[in-house]
Amino acid sequence: MVLTFKLRAEDHAEHRVNLDVFEQLTRNTRPWYVSGSGVGAPRRFGVCPWCDNPVQLVGMLQTDGERKQAAHGRHLNHRQAGFAVFDPHSLRSCPYQRKGRPFRIDERAPASITRLKIRRLAIEQFDRLMLILKQDTGINYSSRLAAALLETWLAAEHWRYAGASLRNIAWMLAYMAPNTPLKGQYLRDGSDLRAALKDHVSTKGQVTVRSGLGVHFQNHKVSGRDGEDAAETLEMVVSDFSAASHSPDAPVVFSKQLKLEHSRFLRLLDTRSDHPARNQELLAIADQLAARFPPPPLEEDQ
Ligand SMILES: [Zn+2]
Repeated sequence: MVLTFKLRAEDHAEHRVNLDVFEQLTRNTRPWYVSGSGVGAPRRFGVCPWCDNPVQLVGMLQTDGERKQAAHGRHLNHRQAGFAVFDPHSLRSCPYQRKGRPFRIDERAPASITRLKIRRLAIEQFDRLMLILKQDTGINYSSRLAAALLETWLAAEHWRYAGASLRNIAWMLAYMAPNTPLKGQYLRDGSDLRAALKDHVSTKGQVTVRSGLGVHFQNHKVSGRDGEDAAETLEMVVSDFSAASHSPDAPVVFSKQLKLEHSRFLRLLDTRSDHPARNQELLAIADQLAARFPPPPLEEDQ
């Protein structure tokens, strides 16, 4: 069950499924509140923040004959009047529909409306995605390395990966990249990464050029248990390849599990688009890459 909802697919802000919140936000108007002859008891609708599909909001009233359960959104299997998006592909990969069933790395979706939106957000919000990654990993990705991440992701159309959602784009850029050398990169002051790699960095926090350190990300997991907020994790692993000629023998010198904090990302998206803190260099890189790897045409719902 989805415990939060949005008003429209294009929104980023999500709200708890709760009658007071619903009434204040929608004022009981269509398309969210549907009542009248022929429809029986009033029904209330919203949009799933994970997959952009319409959901019926249930369990908000004690008197509506439903079993007593947490108020939640229940996915619909069809279009709903007044809601712009119905994307069966994103519905199938919504964690609340999969109920914890793991994503296979080769499980890919057609260029549906939601998939193309993931791609577009990666380009338009590239600087913010990198900000999140820097904060979470402790690696101050250089613009060149950041460009390489996005190039790989766009060239291989990794926005098709079934485990990619509207909320996890930043972390998926890292997950889909091959093992990446860290030499020459700066590590964030105060990060646990920099503390762990202190023998490999200069006093300014730069990984020495002789270093054979490389980072990759693995073990992407999304849980979607009933009655809980879906939790998503990804593991970051730094290996030292300097002595090992065979990669599988390289010692792991740092690893940590990243808990993906989607709300941080969503809040950044709601900061105004011309905010002075935006990184114009990264946005220009994203524009150039988007032109080199143009989107395929929309593949219609099936
Ligand atoms: Zn959903």
